[in-house]
Amino acid sequence: MSDSLPSNSKKTKSANSTNGRPKKPIWRFFEQGDEIDKGHYIATCLACKQTFRPGKTPVMEKHIMNNCSKVDHSICEAVIYMVEAHETREISSGANTKRQNSESDQVTLENFYENSDLSKE
Ligand SMILES: [Zn+2]
Repeated sequence: MSDSLPSNSKKTKSANSTNGRPKKPIWRFFEQGDEIDKGHYIATCLACKQTFRPGKTPVMEKHIMNNCSKVDHSICEAVIYMVEAHETREISSGANTKRQNSESDQVTLENFYENSDLSKE
């Protein structure tokens, strides 16, 4: 008696396709001002009214996490959580273009011989 289970078609939920401009969640804590460069806007911190020209996501995140003295503690924690979450996602998806891709060039002959020495018994 064979109980054949129907193969469970696993549907991997594709990441939320953001229609239009992908607005980073950090913008919830900033006011978006004029566009001063292509895709770059003036950002004003809602808590302390500090202005960033242009408002770049890493700078804004850093401001909330480290520099903003007026931001609510819970917001600060939320941003830290958010940043950690999206950093892990970026690394695992390989979307991070800023990785040091020179790393493979650093495999020297020395390393090569060391490795082959280790692998042969
Ligand atoms: Zn601030």
